[in-house]
Amino acid sequence: MDFRLSVEEEMLKGTIHQFAAKEVAPLAAAVDRDGVFPAKNFKKLGSMGLLGITVPEEFGGAGGTYIDMMIVTEELACACTATAVAFAANAALFSDNLARNGSDYLKQQYLPGACSGELVAGIAMTEPSTGSNVMSMQTRAERRGDHYVLNGSKILITNAPIGDVFIVYAKTNPSGGSDAISAFVVDKTFPGFHRGRAFDKMGWRGSPTGELIFDDCIVPHENLLGSLNRGTDVLMSGLNSERLAMGALSIGLARGAYEFSFQYAKDREQFGQSLIGFQLIQDKLVTMAMHVEMARLLVYKGAAMMDQGTRGRDANLLASYAKLFASEMSMTATTEAVQILGGYGFTKDFPVERMMRDAKINTIGGGTSEIQKMIIMRELLEEQHR
Ligand SMILES: Cc1cc2nc3c(=O)[nH]c(=O)nc-3n(C[C@H](O)[C@H](O)[C@H](O)COP(=O)(O)OP(=O)(O)OC[C@H]3O[C@@H](n4cnc5c(N)ncnc54)[C@H](O)[C@@H]3O)c2cc1C
Repeated sequence: MDFRLSVEEEMLKGTIHQFAAKEVAPLAAAVDRDGVFPAKNFKKLGSMGLLGITVPEEFGGAGGTYIDMMIVTEELACACTATAVAFAANAALFSDNLARNGSDYLKQQYLPGACSGELVAGIAMTEPSTGSNVMSMQTRAERRGDHYVLNGSKILITNAPIGDVFIVYAKTNPSGGSDAISAFVVDKTFPGFHRGRAFDKMGWRGSPTGELIFDDCIVPHENLLGSLNRGTDVLMSGLNSERLAMGALSIGLARGAYEFSFQYAKDREQFGQSLIGFQLIQDKLVTMAMHVEMARLLVYKGAAMMDQGTRGRDANLLASYAKLFASEMSMTATTEAVQILGGYGFTKDFPVERMMRDAKINTIGGGTSEIQKMIIMRELLEEQHR
C-alpha cells in the first residue's frame, strides 16, 4: 500500500494547478455570474490532451489512469466548478464510457473530437418522470431496417443546450427487467434530435443544463453502444467513474473554500487579534482540512481500485462511500467557509458564496445521497448473507 502520488502524477497535479490558478480561477466569477460555458478553458483542456484522459492514444486520448482523472478534476474544481464539470462531462461521462464499450467504428467516429474539445459531449439518463429510478425510463428505441427510431425526452442533462453528442439510454425491450434498455450514441445532426428548455440554476451556472427531445429521431444501427438490451451494463460500467469524479470535484470545491477561508481568517482581525487565533474558528478549519483529506483517501482509493481492474461489489461500495462522503463534506465545508467570512461571506465580493451554491448539486447529481445510502445498505446486507 502506497498513498503517495507517483512523480508523473505529481507533475500532472502541478501543471493543472498552475493552469487553474493562472487561467481558470480569474474567469470563475464571470462564468458563474453570466451563466456561460467556459469555452476558452474547455478548448485549452482539449489542446492539453486532457478531455480524453483515460482514452487510448490511438483514439486521441492521453492513455492515462483514473487517478489522473481525479487529479485533474480536483485541481480544476478548486478554481472553477463549471470548468471541472465541462472536463468531467467529456472525459469521465462520455469518452471513458465510449472507449470501454464502443465498437471501433464509434470510437473512431467520436473519440478524437470529444478528446480534442471539438465536440462537447454528455450522457442522458434522467427523464421528467424518472430520476433516481432510472430503470423506469419512458424513452423508447425501435429497430426499423438499418436504424433505430428514438422517441421521448431527457431532462436536467449537462451540456444539453450546447452539446454535439450524447450517450442516450432508451427502452428497447419493454418486457425485460435488467434486459430492458440499450445505450446509443446520438449526434445532434440526426433527424428528430431537438433541444428543449435550458435551466436557470442555483449553482454550476457555467455548466449548461437542459432538455433533449427525440421526435422520431433516426439513429443508425451502428450507433448502438454495447449490445442490444444490455444498456444496463454500459450504464453500470460508467457509474463508478462518474461517482468518483463527482467525489474529486467535491474535494476540489471544499479545498478551494478551505484555502480561501484559512487566508481570510489570518488577515481579518476582531477583538484585537486575527480570527485564526480563536479556537472556534480553528475548530472549523481543522475539521475542513481533515474532512478534505478523508474524502481524498476514499476517492483516490476508489480510483486506484478501478485502475487495478477491480469491478463489482468492492468497487461499487467504495465509489458510493466516496461520492456520499465527499459530496456531503463539500456542502458542509463551503457552508463553514461562508461562516468564517461572516457577512462578507454572504456577498458576491468573495468566492465562498459561489462555492456554497456550487456544492449543493454534488449531493444530488450522479445519484443522490439517499440513493448512495441505499446502494451501500444493499451491499452490506448482501455481505451478511454470504
Ligand atoms: C445541474 C444538474 C446536472 C445534471 N446532469 C445530468 C446529466 O448529465 N445526465 C443525467 O442523466 N442526469 C443529470 N442530472 C439529473 C440528476 O442525475 C438527477 O437530478 C438525480 O439523479 C435525482 O433525480 P431527480 O432529480 O429526478 O430526483 P428524484 O428521483 O425525484 O428524487 C427526489 C428526492 O427523493 C429522494 N428519493 C428518491 N428515491 C428514494 C428512495 N427510494 N428512498 C429515499 N429517498 C429517495 C431523492 O434522494 C431526492 O432527495 C443533472 C441534474 C442537475 C441538477
